[in-house]
This record gives sequence, C-alpha cells and structure tokens, in this order.
Amino acid sequence: MRIFDFDNSYARDLPGTYVAWKPAQVPQPRLLFLNRPLAEELGLDADALDGPDGAALFAGNRVPEGAEPLAQVYAGHQFGGFSPQLGDGRALLLGEIIDRTGRRRDIAFKGSGRTPFSRGGDGKAAVGPMLREVLIGEGMHALGIPTTRALAVAATGEPVHREQVLPGAVLTRVAASHLRVGTFQFFASRGDIDTLRQLADYAIARHDPELAGVPDRYRALLHAVGQRQARLIAQWMNVGFIHGVMNTDNMTLSGETIDYGPCAFMEAYDPRAVFSSIDHGGRYAYANQPLVARWNLARLAETLIMLMADIDDEAQLKQAVEQVTEIIDAFPGWYAAALLEGQRAKLGLQSATADDDKGDRELADDWLALLQTHKVDFTLAWRRLADAAQGNEAPLRALFADAQAPSVWLARWHARCAADDAVAASEGSAASAQRAPAASAQDGHEAARRAQRMRAVNPLVIPRNHRVEEALAAASNDDDLGPFERLLEALRRPWDDGPSQTPFAEPAPAEVTACYRTFCGT
Ligand code: AMP
Ligand code: MG
Repeated sequence: MRIFDFDNSYARDLPGTYVAWKPAQVPQPRLLFLNRPLAEELGLDADALDGPDGAALFAGNRVPEGAEPLAQVYAGHQFGGFSPQLGDGRALLLGEIIDRTGRRRDIAFKGSGRTPFSRGGDGKAAVGPMLREVLIGEGMHALGIPTTRALAVAATGEPVHREQVLPGAVLTRVAASHLRVGTFQFFASRGDIDTLRQLADYAIARHDPELAGVPDRYRALLHAVGQRQARLIAQWMNVGFIHGVMNTDNMTLSGETIDYGPCAFMEAYDPRAVFSSIDHGGRYAYANQPLVARWNLARLAETLIMLMADIDDEAQLKQAVEQVTEIIDAFPGWYAAALLEGQRAKLGLQSATADDDKGDRELADDWLALLQTHKVDFTLAWRRLADAAQGNEAPLRALFADAQAPSVWLARWHARCAADDAVAASEGSAASAQRAPAASAQDGHEAARRAQRMRAVNPLVIPRNHRVEEALAAASNDDDLGPFERLLEALRRPWDDGPSQTPFAEPAPAEVTACYRTFCGT
C-alpha cells in the first residue's frame, strides 16, 4: 500500500549534502499519538495509519514505499561556538509530499537510531521529550505561529539511557523544510561554493520561488529569511515563548520554529527569564531572542556573501558586505514593527498611523514594565485586559497584589481606545454618524467588539510548563496518555473560554516556576 506520495527533491537535487541511511529496527512498536487533523491536511488516510501498520511505520520498522531516508549534514554555532560538523545524529528525512494546499512538506523521523553524524550519541529519543514536541508544536500552531508539527509518535519498546532509564520513542515531524542556517555554514566553512550555491538555489526554489533566476537572488534570499525570522520572533515574544536553544542549527530558512527541546512559556513576566538547564549564561533568555536572531542572520549572511561576490575581488566583496550589512541592520526595525503590530492587536487597537507608533510603543512597554514590577502572569494579564475593555476590570486587578497598581496605566489605555474608536467612526460611513445620539449603546457595542477582537489574539490557554510536565510524566512513567490528550485538546482551542479550558489556564504555583528547568538532548 502506498501511504505517502513522496517526491524527494532534497535527495534528487542535493547530492553531497546527506548520507542515505535506514532507520533502526525496534522491538515493540506502539502508536502513542497520531495527528488526525494534520494527516487530513497532508491528504493521508488517517484510518490506515492508526493501527499496527501505522505503528510499524512510525517506529521506523517499515520504511514506507517511495521514501528515500537520509541523514542531512549541517554545522552550527552552539552557544556561540562553531561546531563544523553536526548533522542528523538521530533524525532522518524520509522524503517530501505535497499537501492538499500544494505546499511541499518534509516528513522526517527523530529518534530513529544512530547515523554517521551521531558522534557520541545513541541516536534515540524518549517518550516524554517527543510528546513534548507534540504539545508545544500543536500549541504554537493553534496560536498561529509558524512551526514544524508532529504527525505521530510511536513507542519503540526499547529502553533509552539518560540520567534515568526511559521508554524510547520515534517522532514523525512535518516541516516546510529542514534547511537550517547551519546547513549553509557547513559548506561555507569548507569553501565548497558549488554545493553552497546549489543549496541556496534549492532554498529559493522551495521558499522564495519568485526569486529564482533573479540576478541578486542571494541577497534577496537573505532579505526574505530576515523578514520571516523577524516576524517569527515577534510572534514568540507576544506569547511569551522562550525557545531555549537558538543555535544556528535550530534556525530554519523557512521561518518555522523547530526543535522543542528546553523551551518554555513565561509565566510571571520577566524579560530575563531563562529555563534551559544548559544555558548558564542566559544567552537565550527571553529578551535576548531578537538579538540572537539577528546574530544568527549575520552567520547566514557570511555564507551567502560567498555567492554574492568573488571574495578575491576587493571591490565586489566590499559591495556585498555593504549589501548584507544593510539587511542585518534593518532586522531590528522589521522586528520592532512586527512586535508593535502584534502588541496593537493585543491591546485591542485598530487604527495605526506612524504618528501613533511612539505612543503605542510606550503604552505597550509601560504595560510590560507594570507586569514585571508586580510579577504578574503574562498570558492572563493580556487575556483579562479584554474583560477590562468591557469595563470589567476586577479580574485583571485581581492579578496584582495591589489592585490599584494598574489604575494609571488603565486610564491611559482607555483614552487610547477612545481615540481608536473615534478614528474608526470617522472612517466609517455617514450611517455611523447618524447613530451618534445613542452614544452610550454605541460605546457598549464598540467595547464588546474590542473585547472579542482581543480574545482572538490573547490566548487563554498556552502550554503551561507544569501542565506539560504533568502530562509527560503520566505518559512516560505510568503509560497514561489521558492527561496528554486532555491538554492537547485544550491547546488546540487556545482562544476559547469554558469550564474544560479553566484547569489549563492557571499558572503554576510560583515556587514551581522558580525551579523550572527543561533539558535538551534527551
Ligand atoms: P538538538 O539539541 O536536538 O538540536 O541537537 C543538536 C545536535 O546533536 C544534532 O546534530 C543532533 O542530531 C545531535 N543529537 C542530539 N541528541 C542526540 C542523540 N541522542 N544521538 C545522536 N545525536 C544526537
Ligand atoms: Mg537541533
């Protein structure tokens, strides 16, 4: 039976960038998770995958027809230090399929055994961390943030040796591609210009096809990647997401979030928040993420420069350096604009002229400063601001030890909302002017609409760290997938209220968050 209609462009077009390799056989495949909505999106027959055949396939025991499994090679800056060779040490690209909307998607394994790039590692993955990729990835997707997604997780029946012995698993991951900044660094650092050019042209064909054949396409590719990254990081920041390991091998050209290892969502707002157990210096702390993204873009620029100029020609090189510098210098502006756009929506504001930028930025900054000073939960504060838009300020004030603390800021925000409504009304038809006599009813209507808009961009449910841990512990230690399934269900409806959502909306007790650490490489 042909399950995937593979069309493997990476294997075909990029010889020399991978090693053909087979997944390891495992003793006892068992399907723990199948992503039915994603299977549907990919045009797959979910029923056919949801049984022993699916388990054998997703555990790596049965390579599906048409797959050409391969381990990709890449390099990467890890915590600032360059590793000239990393590569898929426990992952394999099976191939690509075209989804229902015509998008090309990678189908890849993670945890499918050793490869030539495993270095000291065992090539394996454990149930907990792979289910974690499901929860965070699906949570991010539901929040509208570009991300790789989990199609399936299969238990292998094999023990995996970490600090403890853990049950093993294989994750099947779907991605727009697995092209990383580190992929480019691998070939650039070896001076392999031919392969680097093939790779860049492949990236263009896949992610920026309108640039194909354009003379300055490598500069334009950098520009496009920079813009995608700026938007992505702004989205992370606006939901309080901390990736945890923004190494250049974990930065995609597609602009999707990848590799949910030691990541976490912030609870009480603190720009210095860092959760990763290996990030001792706080390099990848929340507030550093836009700076790191720019730094990583500069590493990509260093590789593309080799295609933009003959590096022995001083004049050409100078010009190329100027061109990429312009892009790297534009990054903070792109990021700030994307952040503000997101913040405006979160604040319930619709009108936005350049004149408003400074004031709105200050309004958002002061709001965040208020949350930081009073150690208020980031997600709930935004969510309850929607209630405040309708005049119900009590739930928001209850998040502060001193209920009066937000008063001054709230007055400013209400004034800005009123100005926003006035702009909307003046832009509206004469009909809205005729409704003027019923001003208070009209105001109530506007307020309800604002609250509704705000609830559509300020989630109630995010993957709370304690809920994620609880679900993973039950699955990994007790073989109980109930908590995982209930949490996943809630994460798929992040904007919804309702009794079934409530248990997942509350922050962890502060002492839990204070000690929270996540681990990668597990
Ligand atoms: P990550 O931290 O997951 O982004 O991985 C960084 C690098 O370490 C990649 O090259 C991985 O393939 C490799 N790696 C991580 N865990 C393992 C493992 N258990 N066995 C082999 N390689 C691994
Ligand atoms: Mg990685």
